[in-house]
Amino acid sequence: MIRKLIEKVFSRGSGRRAAAPTAPAVPTGPAIIPVDQHGVRRSQISSCARRVTDTLQAQGYKAYVVGGAVRDLMLQHTPKDFDVATDATPEQVHAVFRRSRIIGRRFRLVHVMCGAETVEVSTFRAAQAVGDDNQIKDEHGRILRDNVFGSQAEDAMRRDFTVNALYYDPATEQVLDYCGGAADVASRTMRIIGDPVERYREDPVRMLRAVRLAAKLGMTIERRTREPIQAMAEIVQNVPAARLFEEMLKLLLSGHAVACVRQLRDEGLHHGMLPMLDVILEQPMGERFVWLALERTDERIRADKGVSPAFLFAALLWHEVLAAWNAGRERGVPEVPAMHDAMDQVLSTQAEKIAIPRRFGTDMKEIWLLQWRLEQRSGKRPYRALENPKFRAGYDFLVLRCESGEVDEELGNWWTRFQDAPESERAEMIANAGSGAGPAKKRRRRRGGKRPANGEPAGDESSAPGPDAG
Ligand code: ATP
Ligand code: MG
Repeated sequence: MIRKLIEKVFSRGSGRRAAAPTAPAVPTGPAIIPVDQHGVRRSQISSCARRVTDTLQAQGYKAYVVGGAVRDLMLQHTPKDFDVATDATPEQVHAVFRRSRIIGRRFRLVHVMCGAETVEVSTFRAAQAVGDDNQIKDEHGRILRDNVFGSQAEDAMRRDFTVNALYYDPATEQVLDYCGGAADVASRTMRIIGDPVERYREDPVRMLRAVRLAAKLGMTIERRTREPIQAMAEIVQNVPAARLFEEMLKLLLSGHAVACVRQLRDEGLHHGMLPMLDVILEQPMGERFVWLALERTDERIRADKGVSPAFLFAALLWHEVLAAWNAGRERGVPEVPAMHDAMDQVLSTQAEKIAIPRRFGTDMKEIWLLQWRLEQRSGKRPYRALENPKFRAGYDFLVLRCESGEVDEELGNWWTRFQDAPESERAEMIANAGSGAGPAKKRRRRRGGKRPANGEPAGDESSAPGPDAG
């Protein structure tokens, strides 16, 4: 098999392989952009990526930093990570680096490790010819597998956007530009390579990438690239749920989630494009909460603080859970079982579209359940809530609900004080929490009764977001 692949590398450009009908013409040679024009210095490349390109070049291979890192550096952004493209096969790369491993099924790549850093090394690949054994598409034209090695020029053309198809050589500090990416960086234009309709059909995730990268980098999606997106948005549904989850996570954890989601919505792309967004952006209360959660996430990421995807997804789906919970309670299902039903229902509906990993699902449920627990302020219950390993997340979630106006601030303030209060004060707080402070609390007591699982219907409160709503 390796022989077959190597033969493919050497057969490139021989004209034996028919060009894909919609593939853009492969250019003969790249424009070479000197450092005084693009401004990216060798010192800006991570030491691991430099080591990888230097070592491969010393072995006689071509090796360049490529993709997001070159684009980001040219735009004066800090790259998330560094990718290297080479004409060495994965086996050849692996043979050169002791600390490396071959990964991937759809694309075979090599991860080269230096200390804590990992650099992803991919072999130049070509856009596929129709009928090629190594390229399989589904009935919608979506590429299921492509692993055909190719020339560097072909590798450039199979990439998604011109600004992502720039090759930087740390040795010469030159950028090789096969499709006008440098000019597009300069004018901050996201331009798809080739025919947009065909390229989106091959991989619908490219539409999401266009929006995410444009929002993150403050770029404009060029007209031709943008035009078909709205009509084609629904084919994102053909993408496997696990990949969609990954892509959604990238979007939400980009530090520019608000900008990305706003752009998706402004272009009408939240319908069917990203599962969840259409649901969550169309409930007035839910919308306020979702924007707040996204804003906080962006702030934390930009301040280099950790964020929990489970917390974020719990927030995105909270108003769905709330609606299902209220509906269950209206049918007379006791509160806690109604909450379990609601959580399962929402998670299983989402699972059809987007694969939320099980570990996140478990944490999300814990955060949601805590919303009910945090309303129980009698006896030993507040102490038990404090001991819950997810208390902090549950409390932060509650504060966010207060800020969005869904829940009376009194509840959030109570918990803010309670968690740090001395014992004597805590006892008093518990005693006072039960004595009717406002209409919201009286309602809860009436409904809460004596038992932990309230069997009374939620009545007219189901649509009125008040403290009892969660
Ligand atoms: P970032 O890492 O900042 O999110 P990126 O462009 O580096 O952005 P990666 O997923 O790391 O994104 O991909 C690396 C490169 O691989 C891209 O720059 C692009 O050249 C190519 N690429 C990624 N996804 C696709 C795709 N769906 N279709 C074609 N090329 C792609
Ligand atoms: Mg990248």
